[in-house]
Amino acid sequence: MKLYNTLTRKKEEFVPVNEGKVGIYVCGPTVYNYIHIGNARPMVVFDTVRRYFEYKGYDVNYVSNFTDVDDKIIKKAIEEGVDAHEISERFIVECKKDMEGLNVKPATTHPKATEEIDGMIKMIEELIAEDYAYEKNGTVYFRTRHFKNYGQLSNKNLDDMIAGARIAVNEEKDDAMDFVLWKPKKEGEPSWPSPWGDGRPGWHIECSVMSKKYIGDTIDIHAGGEDLIFPHHENEIAQSEACNHEKFANYWMHNAFLNIDNKKMSKSAGNFFTVREISEKYDLQVIRFFMLSAHYRSPLNFSDTLVEASKNGLERILTAIDRLRELVADGQEDQMTEADQKNVEEAKSLVAKFEEAMEDDFNTADAISAIFELVKLANVTGPEGSTAYDRYLLDTITRLCEILGIVTDKKEELLDADIEALIEERQAARKARDFARADQIRDQLADQGIILEDTRQGVKWRRA
Ligand code: AMP
Ligand code: ZN
Repeated sequence: MKLYNTLTRKKEEFVPVNEGKVGIYVCGPTVYNYIHIGNARPMVVFDTVRRYFEYKGYDVNYVSNFTDVDDKIIKKAIEEGVDAHEISERFIVECKKDMEGLNVKPATTHPKATEEIDGMIKMIEELIAEDYAYEKNGTVYFRTRHFKNYGQLSNKNLDDMIAGARIAVNEEKDDAMDFVLWKPKKEGEPSWPSPWGDGRPGWHIECSVMSKKYIGDTIDIHAGGEDLIFPHHENEIAQSEACNHEKFANYWMHNAFLNIDNKKMSKSAGNFFTVREISEKYDLQVIRFFMLSAHYRSPLNFSDTLVEASKNGLERILTAIDRLRELVADGQEDQMTEADQKNVEEAKSLVAKFEEAMEDDFNTADAISAIFELVKLANVTGPEGSTAYDRYLLDTITRLCEILGIVTDKKEELLDADIEALIEERQAARKARDFARADQIRDQLADQGIILEDTRQGVKWRRA
């Protein structure tokens, strides 16, 4: 299996630290609001990477954190007049709901920064003991120049960084490139006791500590969006390698951005859609399929036209699967004909094509085209072929979809717009005194867990 390693800037053969096992750490979201579909890209992409490793028989330890202490969380808490913890817990729950909608599997462990403070204090103490860190007035800084390989991931050298970064002058630091490991408490902020006074950890140290605790000193694959390469991941390497004296991560994978009008979707730019908003308009399976239709290292522009194209593509696959299911359900126990055997050979070569694409740095776009070719085969089977062959195709296509995390069971979950259209139709039927049709619509909605209430203000509906 080959994957592109940001650290070496080339595709490399994957060799695990421990045979048959893979430890993957993916930097998770800061939980102060609903996640947007840009944040969902790394979730979908690396969940697919995980699923492929599982398909290949690896024992996968997948760790993804929640950053639940941060300026943005504190700001939101102050705005709402509640505790920061209440904000982060609320949006962890909401984030997990969105992940479920996108069919992103829960991680093996989802550590939360606020529950790992002891480990962070311990790592900072170790760094101070080795002179990789120092304290000034309650703040602890990492001594960046002391770490000889700094800049290896982002391919930068320290002096260029200083020239380019226009880092604010801070008399307190020994060097402009030193970064914060621990910051002192400010009034009204959450804090924890430490040898340097009450305070809270810096962002980078969280991931160094959580990945060490849940995976080990050396991670197989460390992943996240490409905006994290510098400084976050560069700083994680510096902290972890200075402390553990071991290589931190063997492979670094970074997804490119999800854009709108070719600009990065982000909360700060205001050009974002939350996963929740989008779920009102599209089945989230369509969004997952859309994200996998591009290579993860290519920028992906979000537009209704492109999402509609993905919706049609996914529909084509699901319709073929439904048709095969019907053929199999109506068929009998039989054996493949000679012609079927030949087609099986072709199907096998398409599965090989799918695997080759996935093993070439997770080229999901090409993997999906292999599925479309299988769908073509499926669409020309008919009652004259054997049920055994239909079953073979059905199993093959559903298995490949499963690797991509595409749900193949028709859920038929109604979207808000569909529900409202049905309610209107029911009203029209009642006006026309077609009560049979009106009742039929009410029952159809009830089957889908939609409850109607006739009120004086009109019809109200809710999901059961
Ligand atoms: P944040 O909550 O900003 O720390 O982001 C959580 C994850 O989402 C990180 O891995 C980011 O790199 C990633 N991310 C944020 N915005 C985008 C975007 N527009 N496209 C792709 N990934 C993104
Ligand atoms: Zn991180």
